[in-house]
Formats: sequence, structure tokens, C-alpha cells
Amino acid sequence: MADNDAEVVVIGGGAAGVAAARRLGDASIRCLLVEARSRLGGRAWTVTDPSGFALDLGCGWLHSADRNPWTRIAAQQGATIDKSSPPWTRPPPEWDFSPAEQADFQKAVSAFFERTEQTAQKAPDVAASTLLDPAGRWNGLINSLGTYISGTDLDQLSVKDFDNYADTGVNWRVVEGYGTIISRYGTGLQLMLDCAVSSIDHGGKRVSVGTAKGSIKADQVIVTVPSNVLATERLRFTPSLPAKVEAAQGLPLGLADKLFMSLDNAEEFDRDTRVFGRKDRPGTGAYQFRPLGRPRIEAYFGGRLAADLEAHGDEGFFDFAVSELVGLLGGEFARRVKPIHIHRWGHDPFALGSYSSALPGFADCRPVLAAPVDDRLFFAGEACSVHDFSTAHGGWHTGVAAADQVIAARRGQSA
Ligand SMILES: Cc1cc2nc3c(=O)[nH]c(=O)nc-3n(C[C@H](O)[C@H](O)[C@H](O)COP(=O)(O)OP(=O)(O)OC[C@H]3O[C@@H](n4cnc5c(N)ncnc54)[C@H](O)[C@@H]3O)c2cc1C
Repeated sequence: MADNDAEVVVIGGGAAGVAAARRLGDASIRCLLVEARSRLGGRAWTVTDPSGFALDLGCGWLHSADRNPWTRIAAQQGATIDKSSPPWTRPPPEWDFSPAEQADFQKAVSAFFERTEQTAQKAPDVAASTLLDPAGRWNGLINSLGTYISGTDLDQLSVKDFDNYADTGVNWRVVEGYGTIISRYGTGLQLMLDCAVSSIDHGGKRVSVGTAKGSIKADQVIVTVPSNVLATERLRFTPSLPAKVEAAQGLPLGLADKLFMSLDNAEEFDRDTRVFGRKDRPGTGAYQFRPLGRPRIEAYFGGRLAADLEAHGDEGFFDFAVSELVGLLGGEFARRVKPIHIHRWGHDPFALGSYSSALPGFADCRPVLAAPVDDRLFFAGEACSVHDFSTAHGGWHTGVAAADQVIAARRGQSA
């Protein structure tokens, strides 16, 4: 296949893009996957730390693992699946949260989730922050929890969209890294890496894809770039597609960033325990001690807090984490931790954020973003999924659905 011609071009090699390209390849369709980065995986990205541990800078949890297609693919690849309980289901250490406080917090969280479920059934859609108990003691921490789940603070979060998310409650991990599985799944595909797409001209007989390495002609194109790339029109359509841009703007990627630190004398802590840096303000880090039993701390920051920290560079995260951990464990603790890895997803030009959530009033944008245009342009990516958005398996499902739409369209055209 010439580099400048394909039956189908898939733009973006994350979970959605590799799933779409594999499906098309299995249907013997000549497909070219064009990816801006020098690697596959997109927001699924595993790096190896100096001790040889696989660290997931993006997705790490096989959410809904019992129905997640990546679980099967990981097993087929011979990867090790860790089924131990996630930190958020384990009791927090008592030095951090007394059982009575913990019970009170859980009660407040359950009541908040119940209100979101009830409110989501009614019109109009509202921001999740309106459902906080005005006198609630835990509102700040519930907001932080919301930022870890949705990447955004509750005042920017649609209750309807939040409620549409479906989850089986089974959460597993891949010891070799979730990102490793997704990028490996692209092995053998026809690829153009380091090749950012800037334009798609769908006005002519064939679609013309404008890239950093020249233009590529295709019968059909599957676009899987993150919603923020479409919302900011870094990828332009001719003729323009204002409905797509508006839908993408209603589904912005919020922010969630992970900082990995080494931890001396780690055995003092139970594996996979989680503590919050502070419980009395809306922005705080969640610190997971000994993830997978390793001598590490995995810190998680979301929403406005993550945006503020990103503005201060990589060091901003470590300084903030140390200040919160010292607040919990005393001044000496600062000597026991060192930064290993952080990725600022908001500053990543090919992501521009972490995962999508709908703004209040915009929950209906997901099917609009996913809808094909003229049986020639197809759309996939986590933001297109109504129930599995913000996840790597949501990416897989939308990629496969778009590929199946392409296959059906090609059958229709040749009939
Ligand atoms: C910190 C963090 C933690 C997360 N945790 C989890 C988790 O535990 N479990 C989970 O399921 N999900 C998690 N996610 C979300 C998950 O990683 C994403 O939902 C999923 O990987 C998105 O896949 P995608 O294919 O839709 O998009 P992407 O992975 O973003 O793929 C899109 C691809 O398009 C490429 N691209 C962008 N612009 C262009 C262009 N102009 N030309 C060509 N290519 C372009 C990008 O480089 C990228 O490779 C997390 C994400 C982050 C950031």
C-alpha cells in the first residue's frame, strides 16, 4: 500500500484507533493508521521506572474488568492480571481517618450519589455541585472525589452525563501496564507515526487527509482524536462541521494527573492503601501507598487543582505532594520520598487533557460526536461513548463500532 493512499485512514492510535484498525484489518480492508506521536497508545502510556516497574501515566485500571475487552486481550497477550482490591474499596489507615469519620464520609458520599441518580431522571440537567448538602461537612472532599472520577470539579459536571456512566464495580490491573497492552495490540498494523493530521477535506470524490508528511487519499476516514483536539479545531474539516466542534466543546477533557514517587521503608504501610492529603478543602491529592505492593506512592490530582499544579511545572506536583504528606505524617517524611514520573496531560499537545465529561446541559453531545457524516467520515474515541466514556474500554467499543459502520457502508456501496 502506498503511504499516500488507503481504503480507510484511521486518525489517532489510542485505544479507539488501534481497535478500529484491527477490526478493519480482520475484514481485509486496506487501512492506514496515522498517529501524531512516535508511539501508539495515546492516553494509555506505560513507562518503566529505574527499578523496572511498569508505571501507567494514563489509564491504569481495567474498569468493569469482567466485561472489559482489554481484559481478554491482556490475557491473550500473556500479561499478568492483578485482581486484588482497589485502594478505594479498602479501609483507609486509622492514623488518617478514624472509623467514625470514615463512616460519616461514606454516608455523605452515598447520599450525594443517590441525589445525582434521582436528579438525572428529571429535566433540566444541572451541575453536580448543586446537589451538595449546603451544610455538608465533606463537600470539599466529595468535590475532590468528583475530580478523580470525572477530571473536573462538580460545578462543571453534568449530572445526567455522570449518571449515564455504567460500571460493574470490578477493577483489575495489568502488572506489565495497561498502556503496554494497548500499544502491543497495534503490532502489525500499517502505521504512520510522528505524523500529525491538520486537515480533512471531504468535499471531493475521495477524502483528503492533510498531514505533516503530505496528503493521503482515502475512501473513508475514522477520526479518533480527543475531544479537545476537535473542540480547538487543531484538526480542521472542509467543508466545516460546526455540529462536531460544538459537540466536542460540550465534552471537554478534564484533568487528572499522576505523580509517581519512590518511598523508603515502604513496608511500614499496607499495600494499596489510600489517603487524602486534606479533608477540609475542595482540592487535594489522593495518595496510594505501595501500589501493587511496590515501594512507591502513586499520587492523583484532578480538576482545578491539577490545572493549578500544571502551571507550576513538574516540580509543582512534587512540592505540593510533599507538603500534604508532611502534613499527615510529619516533617521527617519528606526525606523518604523522591519524584520518579509525572506527565502533565493538559500540556500534552495531542491530548490537551485527561478524560471527557459533559458540561451541565451537554450530556446529549456524545451521540452527536459519534454520528457518521455522509458514510465517509466516522468518529470514535472515549468521548463518543454514552455509557463507557472516559475509559480505555469505552475507546475500544467506539473504535470497533466505527469500524463496523465503515464495513457496512462499504458493503452498501459495492452492492
Ligand atoms: C491520568 C489518567 C488516568 C486514567 N485512568 C484510567 C483508568 O484507570 N482506566 C481507564 O479505563 N481509563 C483511564 N483513563 C482514560 C483513558 O486513558 C482514555 O479514556 C483512553 O485511553 C482514551 O482512548 P482514545 O483512543 O479515545 O483516545 P487517545 O488515547 O487520546 O487516542 C487518540 C490518539 O490521537 C492522537 N492524535 C491527537 N491529535 C492528532 C492529530 N492531529 N493527528 C494524528 N493523531 C492525533 C493522539 O496522539 C492519540 O494517540 C485515564 C487517563 C488519564 C490521563
